[in-house]
Amino acid sequence: MEWADELATRVSGPQVVNDSKTPSGTVHVGSLRGPVILDVIVRALRTAGHETTLLYGVDDLDAMDAQALLTPDAVERYMGVPLAHIPDQVSDGHASYARHHAQVFIDLFADLGINPDRYYWMSDIYPTGEMDPFIRVALDRAQIVRDLYRRVSNVQHPETWHPILVICETCGKVGTTIVTKWDGERVYYECRRDLVTWAHGCGTSGWVAPFGGRAKLPWNLEWAAQWSLFGVTIEPCGKDLATAGGSRDRSDAVAREVFDREPPINVPYEFLNIAGRKMSTSKGRGAAAHRIVEVIPPDQLRTLFIRPRPNHAIEFDPEGTDAIPRLFDEFDRLADATAGRPVKGELPPGYASLFRYALRDASADPAAEAAAYHPSFAHLAFLAQVPGADIAALVATEKGEALSPRETEILDERLAAARAWLAGYAPERARMVVRDDLPPDANHLDPEQRAFLATLAEVATATGGPDGGEAWQTTIFQTAAGLGLPPGRAFAALYLAFLGRPNGPRAGWLLASLDREFVATRLLGAARAGATMSPAGGTT
Ligand SMILES: [Zn+2]
Ligand SMILES: [Zn+2]
Repeated sequence: MEWADELATRVSGPQVVNDSKTPSGTVHVGSLRGPVILDVIVRALRTAGHETTLLYGVDDLDAMDAQALLTPDAVERYMGVPLAHIPDQVSDGHASYARHHAQVFIDLFADLGINPDRYYWMSDIYPTGEMDPFIRVALDRAQIVRDLYRRVSNVQHPETWHPILVICETCGKVGTTIVTKWDGERVYYECRRDLVTWAHGCGTSGWVAPFGGRAKLPWNLEWAAQWSLFGVTIEPCGKDLATAGGSRDRSDAVAREVFDREPPINVPYEFLNIAGRKMSTSKGRGAAAHRIVEVIPPDQLRTLFIRPRPNHAIEFDPEGTDAIPRLFDEFDRLADATAGRPVKGELPPGYASLFRYALRDASADPAAEAAAYHPSFAHLAFLAQVPGADIAALVATEKGEALSPRETEILDERLAAARAWLAGYAPERARMVVRDDLPPDANHLDPEQRAFLATLAEVATATGGPDGGEAWQTTIFQTAAGLGLPPGRAFAALYLAFLGRPNGPRAGWLLASLDREFVATRLLGAARAGATMSPAGGTT
């Protein structure tokens, strides 16, 4: 995390860190990368002793421009209307479409340890008149704005175009209006039927004073005006906005040439891709942020976003893969390294600071958190499927002593995540159901496998039989070896006998977690079930 710590050494004086978002629809997990990076910057600044304010804005006067997000009957009426002026399509009590989607997203922040000092909504800011001075300057300097768009981004506006979007007094749309005159107090606007292809204006035209919430600045000017209004010193932004000649370059130029202010320091960050696709807010792909948090707890979700440097894209494919268990393993590796325990594989530079920033609780003691016992996620996912298993007792046995209250919290959180993972994301091979009765497929066992199961049944019931997952695993290997049976076929026999399928997770732990009498009976039953079949019984 040297990038954040290094940034903190480069700045001086009080800092204002800002980000804002257009609440255009369901927000996907990738959109949380920005807020997490924002929070890491704030923590680094505060650790370095800078007085720091974190702001988070909602650009909710932006026009609705994605038809797919509206119910069909709402398209003609609401395309081009500010998001804040569209009714909540879900009708669950939010004041508007914008409030619904922004709130669902913002509600995730506190759990992730992200606590902005202030949230602001542009639909609240414009009516206060705070934006009026910037609107006036932008209109007075319309020629500079037009030149700058042409120079920086090769965007050519007509000579009469003015940088302000009036909210049509008749139809309420903002995406369909154009301003062509400014007399120093009022603008002349037209709500055109065909200004844009995605929304239709109503034909209204006239003079209006564009202040107090009756108009908004186009996005690049609004962004730069936010920097001036709030005194923003640092603002990270997504790679899509940070391209040469792109949105950020335009707003930087507006800040300097129109509002006479240096733009904030940029920290461009890359996207999170789900299975190779860029996460898109409006296309409805991938995993919704508010669903992912049910299966990835805060510390691990923060790890997902900050383990790679901001300028590295994240590939994440949570469905039907081990991506989520691997994320827990990586967090545990960072914890081990931070606690001075040996770890496998290379460590990222600054791993201890990475671990510290991964913790949701900024005031937590990283040394204590690193030292705490973290049960393996994959193992918990397995135990969660064992009927009647006393998981807390089994985990305490593995640890070698009772769990501390904090460790019990970690266990509970991980167990809930493991259950959610099994329910919604886990690959088929991670799931298992111990059959109450001998599965019919046990009939396909060959004579060698039956002999192995019968021998194992004897070992299981003998005095001093295996106790615990490791011991069972060793016994399975030794028994198979003693009979000259390859381990793969030995394990397959166990999975068939208990789970009714040819593969499964951790057979030794499975047997250890079941009642010994049940295990012995099932092993014998499977050994005999095959024996009653024809000698040529099928093998796999
Ligand atoms: Zn709602
Ligand atoms: Zn109109």
